Amino acid sequence: MQALAEAPLDDVLKQWEGLGYYSRARNLHAAAQMVMMEWNGRLPTTAADLMTLKGIGRYTAGAIASIAFNEPAPILDGNVIRVLSRLTDLPNDVTQTSTKNDLWQLAEQLVPPDRPGDFNQALMELGQQICLPAKPMCLLCPVSAYCLARQRGTQLERPVRPPRQRTPHYDVVAGIIWQDEAEVGTPDGKFLIAQRPFDGLLGGLWEFPGGKQEPNETLPQALVREIQEELAIQIEVGSFLTSIKHAYTHFRITLHAFHAHHLTGQPQHLGVADHAWVTLPDLDTYAFAVTDRKIIAALIDEIGQ
Ligand code: SF4
Repeated sequence: MQALAEAPLDDVLKQWEGLGYYSRARNLHAAAQMVMMEWNGRLPTTAADLMTLKGIGRYTAGAIASIAFNEPAPILDGNVIRVLSRLTDLPNDVTQTSTKNDLWQLAEQLVPPDRPGDFNQALMELGQQICLPAKPMCLLCPVSAYCLARQRGTQLERPVRPPRQRTPHYDVVAGIIWQDEAEVGTPDGKFLIAQRPFDGLLGGLWEFPGGKQEPNETLPQALVREIQEELAIQIEVGSFLTSIKHAYTHFRITLHAFHAHHLTGQPQHLGVADHAWVTLPDLDTYAFAVTDRKIIAALIDEIGQ
């Protein structure tokens, strides 16, 4: 499964990084040092000055300046974007920079000099509690008289975003490759498991070997090819065991598991880190990913252990 596994790992790591857990801590530390060195240990009080600190963007600066220091600075988060784009029945894609700039400008015009912090919090609260994404509660909304989307019945079409890309789906096949045809499905029979390469997705975990089905290939053909490519052995594919659906961050798979048995060749580590011939009770000592644990459960069910 190496080809499938390698590509998404970067995406997964990017997503962790994208969540901002690492960078937030680094930025907080850098910002604290800047406050000590450049601001005599006191937090700056205007949105413009706050934005010079590492990790503080326009939204955070606006929130701190308006709530803590009473500056009429605007804020724009997801809730405020939804409220403003509905109030103005904005037909433009809110993921575009030019549209965001327009919304910032609007937020700036709206924030009053008197109690700007309360106004900004009320705007966020309106988006959080009343102007909900799928079910805006217009009858309870304190600004419904000014809402163009409500007048035109376009609330659910605002804000406008580009259509979501479908998450790709792959059919993947895995084999319980028994050492000998006579051992297929027997409680004491030995079968092959493989360790995934350490540098890929789920690196170092053990699995029932196999891989992604290519176009114009049946599942058994895909299994024979993958096993040849990853372990350099020949197998014969037997009966179907189970299918498991699983969603990763950026793709979904249906994993089809088949019994098979070994014909010829000594396993080589072409696309795997290691291999082992094991019996069912041996599996306790190996770490498997969730999909392979489900195959094990199906196997135990079938064999009746
Ligand atoms: S009237 Fe409805 S759509 Fe308009 S701001 Fe209020 S809750 Fe949102």
